[in-house]
Amino acid sequence: MLIGALRSPLPDERRVGITPDVARRYLADGHRVTVEAGAGGAAGFPDDAYREAGCDIGEAREAEAVVAVAPPDPGQLRSGSLLLGLLSPLDDPQAIAALAERGVVALAFETLPRTTRAQSMDALTSQASMAGYQLALEAAALLPRVFAMMVTPAGTLRPAKVVVLGCGVAGLSAVSTARRLGAVVRAYDVRAEAAGDVESLGADFINLDLTPQDGSSADGYARTLNEDESARLLDGLTPHLTEADVVITTAAVPGRAAPLLVTGDAARGMAPGSVIADGAAARGGNCELTEAGKTITTEGATVSGPLFIESRIAADASRLYARNAYELLKYLTSDPPPAPDDPIAAGAVLTRDGEVVHPAVLESLGGGR
Ligand code: NAD
Repeated sequence: MLIGALRSPLPDERRVGITPDVARRYLADGHRVTVEAGAGGAAGFPDDAYREAGCDIGEAREAEAVVAVAPPDPGQLRSGSLLLGLLSPLDDPQAIAALAERGVVALAFETLPRTTRAQSMDALTSQASMAGYQLALEAAALLPRVFAMMVTPAGTLRPAKVVVLGCGVAGLSAVSTARRLGAVVRAYDVRAEAAGDVESLGADFINLDLTPQDGSSADGYARTLNEDESARLLDGLTPHLTEADVVITTAAVPGRAAPLLVTGDAARGMAPGSVIADGAAARGGNCELTEAGKTITTEGATVSGPLFIESRIAADASRLYARNAYELLKYLTSDPPPAPDDPIAAGAVLTRDGEVVHPAVLESLGGGR
């Protein structure tokens, strides 16, 4: 099979779907690999690194299987090809319908089951780990004080107090990064299971007067809070926020706008120079003052809403992403192929034979097509 990697259409998206090391794996399995010129450049993988690995530099759009990071223009793909990527199927179901019309078999990471069996293919997890790490560094870089306690002849500096909101994969990565930098970390999530995860990383879990979600929903994701729960959550969190030097937020409910966890008043009520790093900026932000892609200052906290944060560590983010894609493609194209009702296949495949076939995407389209 001819497998291709496209150059990202977005200037701030620096990740690439195939790295030279992973290209070697495809080649060893008997595939050919073609990479669009410059596709890996922004991630630190020049065309020559791909040539050395045995890839062609050329028209990836001729490929039978294309690994992308962001959704490409359907016109870039040939009919009958496989497309694998982070395709935002629930945010932009019309784009998935356009891929179906083009005759592309679209495979998305977002709809894979988050099971142990699918772990090696789970790009949401690998990329969220990168995002959480980088969010903690963003906060540390903006904070005009140290994270770790420092004892110096000129005096002792206390460690920074960090609060992490949302303790899924990105939040836990932020917790462990902030801890490694020496901060005192407290964290909160609506899911009951998160308390043990937070404590196992040496941080304290914030207990609020709110019934934790038991995580028994089919997919393990949080559900949206009702109005009363949201009000109690904001009230309960605010005193913890005003005491913090840094608040890192990563809370999300799939297919929904990010939940509001930090009001404008709470952000302005934090000490001058304190920092909010909002990892949910692309989905509207967990902080009311977040402006996507910008850092703003208030009379209290400085609020950063970085976009494409994984792209700041694009080399490692791409290494993990490319490996996830390799494992998923290998699984789906195995001989014999998995049955259509195999949970991984059923989760990944969005379109087939010119139709949208994934139930969640069909639902987002309003039952259409
Ligand atoms: P996500 O990015 O969808 O959400 C991030 C976090 O925000 C979640 O922990 C969620 O509970 C939390 N959240 C939502 N609303 C909130 C609110 N109002 N206040 C505070 N926190 C809120 O989540 P994710 O990181 O993709 O993880 C989703 C689930 O998948 C989790 O249960 C995770 O443990 C599970 N998971 C399982 C595996 C596996 O191998 N079994 C791998 C990865 C993730």
